[in-house]
Amino acid sequence: MTLPGAPFVAYRGTELFIDGCAASELAARFGTPLYVYSRRAMLAALAPYQRALAGREHLICYAMKASSSLAVLQTFAQAGCGFDIVSGGELDRVLAAGGDPGKVVFSGLGKTRAEMRRALEIGVRCFNVESEAELDVLSEVALSLGRVAPVSLRVNPDVDAKTHPYISTGLKGNKFGIAHDRAVAAYRRAAQLPGLKVVGIDCHIGSQITEIAPYLDAADRVLDLVEAIESSGLRIHHLDLGGGLGIQYTDERPPAADALIGALLARLDARGHGARTLVFEPGRSLVGNAGVLLSEVLYLKPGTHKNFCVVDAAMNDLMRPALYEATMSIVPCRLRDGVPVVYDVVGPVCESGDWLGRDRALALQPGDAVAVLSAGAYGMSMASNYNSRPRAAEVMVDGDVATLIREREPVAELFRGEHLLPAD
Ligand SMILES: *Cc1c(COP(=O)(O)O)cnc(C)c1O
Repeated sequence: MTLPGAPFVAYRGTELFIDGCAASELAARFGTPLYVYSRRAMLAALAPYQRALAGREHLICYAMKASSSLAVLQTFAQAGCGFDIVSGGELDRVLAAGGDPGKVVFSGLGKTRAEMRRALEIGVRCFNVESEAELDVLSEVALSLGRVAPVSLRVNPDVDAKTHPYISTGLKGNKFGIAHDRAVAAYRRAAQLPGLKVVGIDCHIGSQITEIAPYLDAADRVLDLVEAIESSGLRIHHLDLGGGLGIQYTDERPPAADALIGALLARLDARGHGARTLVFEPGRSLVGNAGVLLSEVLYLKPGTHKNFCVVDAAMNDLMRPALYEATMSIVPCRLRDGVPVVYDVVGPVCESGDWLGRDRALALQPGDAVAVLSAGAYGMSMASNYNSRPRAAEVMVDGDVATLIREREPVAELFRGEHLLPAD
């Protein structure tokens, strides 16, 4: 049986291994819930992007909201990546991880003045601006600092990425980007604002996209705009085609990154835009399959309609099932004999939405460790403290070496900064 995340996530005999480390041993050594990432799997996911873009002016900006722990950022920074950020907090993480701010693109539709100021002072490569109102504010902030802000406009190409509505971002009804039919006017406005310098154009149509066609449609729509903008005398330097490539959770078959980039490059070449600098913002596809969430089975709870397998990880640790009804593979860390029973795998949080998997046939006993696969993206970075649950620890493995990269959050941290009312 080939698991999502193979070959870095695979059984050897009855033991599940993450790269060279046995999952059940990691669970015993570091405790659960525990996120485990394979460094080699991350670099292997990056390689086809790098290969496909070799020989072209390009920048791969890891969309760090997918997984933003410092050691993850460090891994990509050392591999030459820039970062796609969506907040001032993420910029500080890039700096703390040793990333190059000159390779940062700042996305997001609600940048505050304070975030703009900080990003201008640090010197990010580009602001991806999402509205005409934001253009005005950014220009004003840049002028107040005596600087000029490099900008791309995030345009909304109005294509259907054919993904879950919550992670579709390139349709007219989405809150993201500047509408296609307003884009040329917005570029004219940007060009007139004294605090801005137009450097590129940007789009990002959604996430967990498993087909190439929506990307080609979006690229065509963006190139139409580039041609219209440039014929009005403005120069667009780089094309940023966003992120969004899907991964395998169960039986999805997304295109390989090099196949996607190859198809996009062919389209750009065919339309005479092959010499432009290219920016990509992959998130999930670089880290998703590289991570698993390990959890311990607390109780098996048979019922008349459903059997429940209660584990010590919950929706606060991994929100994707509760938020998007996402289906993620769940497997035992050590295979055992016995007839599998069909369970809903649920966490301890007091919400019926707190489930990690439904109707899973598993042979388990209390005390066993299970792994939720493909949990490397939008897992830990979305974790919360709901139910006053401290956040999980994180481990990075490289071959047979496991390094703790984030300590389990101490409970006292949860109410640090809180104050009782003064006694009267
Ligand atoms: C989230 C996001 C990405 C990354 O999306 P993935 O699906 O994780 O690749 C890229 N660009 C922007 C602007 C985003 O918001």
